[in-house]
Amino acid sequence: MARDPYEVLGIDRNASDDEIKRAFKSLAKKYHPDLNPGDKTAEEKFKEINEAYRTVTNRGGASEQSSAGGFSGFEDIFNFGGFSEIFKDFGFGGFSSKGEDLRYDLDISVDELFKELPKTITVKHNEKCETCKGTGAKERRTCKKCNGSGKIRRTSRQFGSMFMVTSDCDVCKGTGYIIEKKCDVCKGDGFIYREENIKIPIHKTIITGSYTILPGFGEPGRNGNNGDLYIVFRVKGGQKFAIDGRDLKSNLHVDLRDILDKRRIEVDTPAGKQTILLEKYSNGPIVLENHGLFDKNGRRGNMIFYVIIELPGNLSHDEKADVDRIIGKRKEPFISSVN
Ligand SMILES: [Zn+2]
Ligand SMILES: [Zn+2]
Repeated sequence: MARDPYEVLGIDRNASDDEIKRAFKSLAKKYHPDLNPGDKTAEEKFKEINEAYRTVTNRGGASEQSSAGGFSGFEDIFNFGGFSEIFKDFGFGGFSSKGEDLRYDLDISVDELFKELPKTITVKHNEKCETCKGTGAKERRTCKKCNGSGKIRRTSRQFGSMFMVTSDCDVCKGTGYIIEKKCDVCKGDGFIYREENIKIPIHKTIITGSYTILPGFGEPGRNGNNGDLYIVFRVKGGQKFAIDGRDLKSNLHVDLRDILDKRRIEVDTPAGKQTILLEKYSNGPIVLENHGLFDKNGRRGNMIFYVIIELPGNLSHDEKADVDRIIGKRKEPFISSVN
């Protein structure tokens, strides 16, 4: 049984067209398959959102749609009359003459995260050829079939209703013109391959899977604007830390004498070196609260040190027993390796 479409979209039954549109857009953006590659749950959710939107706005009618066998893929949804319109300012390729979006997976270490220094990445993408203004032509003439509009209109029957469908002109491939002489610079492509260094701002609240969008840094569109570049972050522990949810874990090698003398020792935390007092050591992990990673709600985890006590190598059996008696039996560290 399908869920109530209003509930799916998280809106009131009296929601205005604008509110419906806004709710749909923000959800569709969140669960768009481009942003959740390989995620079946997101894909299902995305379909559900689209269906709910269609039902709520009564585009095509829910009953007709289910009798038509449901959707075979996203293509069906997007080709449906009137649907591309809502995606126009959406940023995903394929709905308008806007270029394709690109994705860049950016690994960032815990150290880099907390230093919050911008990270420079090299992005390879195509850029509109300025010589021909992206047309690919040195000389061109207007397409006769579409009279330069690049579009052909025809009627189509879908779900029992007639629709006016506009598609790209097959003769000029939607450009509206025929190239007679190719541009010397781009050899007719209309774009030039480029590598570009871009500085990505880093903030310590970044989490694995969060992303930032650089508008216009995607592929160029034939007639329209560039697509966008999605920078998708992945936080790595690096040499020092193992990541466990929002907690960070690390092995801490401590000299037995430092424990017995209750000394202060220096440790590595995400925010840099910090001293901790071994006075309260009780043969368990040392926890620095609120020194871990942030989660998606902005809450911060802990930094947990698993203490490995370095004993002098020449202890006798009795002396070792004394050590166990004073500080407790040795517990194996929890971290076998850090990633
Ligand atoms: Zn044409
Ligand atoms: Zn050119």
